[in-house]
Amino acid sequence: MTTCGKNQLTHPDSGHPELFSPEELGERPVVAATKCGMTELSGRDEAIRFMSFGSGSSGNCSYVGDVRSGFLIDAGVEGAVVENSLRAVGIPMTAVKGILLTHDHGDHVRYVYSLLRNHRHLLVYCTPRVLNGMLRRHSLSRRVKDYHRAIYKEFEFTIGNFTITPFEVIHDGSDNCGFHIRHGQTTMAVATDLGCVSERVDHYFTGVNFMMLESNYDREMLLTGGYPDYLKARIEKESGHLDNAASARLVADKWHSGLTYVFLCHLSNDNNTPQQALKTHAEIIREAHPELTIGDGSQENLTDLQMIALPRFAPTPLYILRRKP
Ligand SMILES: [Zn+2]
Ligand SMILES: [Zn+2]
Repeated sequence: MTTCGKNQLTHPDSGHPELFSPEELGERPVVAATKCGMTELSGRDEAIRFMSFGSGSSGNCSYVGDVRSGFLIDAGVEGAVVENSLRAVGIPMTAVKGILLTHDHGDHVRYVYSLLRNHRHLLVYCTPRVLNGMLRRHSLSRRVKDYHRAIYKEFEFTIGNFTITPFEVIHDGSDNCGFHIRHGQTTMAVATDLGCVSERVDHYFTGVNFMMLESNYDREMLLTGGYPDYLKARIEKESGHLDNAASARLVADKWHSGLTYVFLCHLSNDNNTPQQALKTHAEIIREAHPELTIGDGSQENLTDLQMIALPRFAPTPLYILRRKP
């Protein structure tokens, strides 16, 4: 299965003014990432806009887009937070075309119907098993079905100028998906809630420019913490969550000079801290690549790789992610 089938993307609306630009900021800051040598126009066209509205067991939702349109990944954060955060950086909800669901746990689907009801142009993209699991597990309106577009693992589909390939991740939800996202020549891989790095995860994280990857818990904190044994066992299982070290080993393994941004997601509130996750990643990545410098996104010109632990509740700035030439 290749994810590189359609690389001649065009921008049919490119003659129109941008929906937003870094110069037209609202209250929320925009972080302009890698300043690459592409022409200004193609750099702006290919850049991926990324924003997280919340990440972790309390609720997950993020935005991926380009200058024209985009989509949400998961719907575990209240619609008003999503809407207001996007509006603050000049992105209207009409530019959001759909919601991709990774799996049917409540922290990923809780607000899907209210988002659809308030923004009726939205479509929800998930596998039929995720849809059925969501309706079975949660008291959601069956009208969600009216907005459903069925997607299937290993089969790419498009939203705007994005080509997306869902892939299998191992977790204890229904039909759990990661996503490989391609925009022109720029690629991003997303895997939240996965108990292990399976062959498909390994495959789809190869060669990407940007990652959003779970870094759920510090093993020591989990084992010595106050969780009951059954819960510790569930988290540690291959179908549970990814610990900092396993997450870091994947990043270290996949490092190449074109990988510029890694967003660590779904950090545990009780068994992790952003500092601990970043520290473990830095140690393991530097052990494998001693020359590699890691930054926090604030001075991206000075370091090779930017690594950001996504906050559990607060929305992030809008990151404008450009591929290195
Ligand atoms: Zn989750
Ligand atoms: Zn889950």
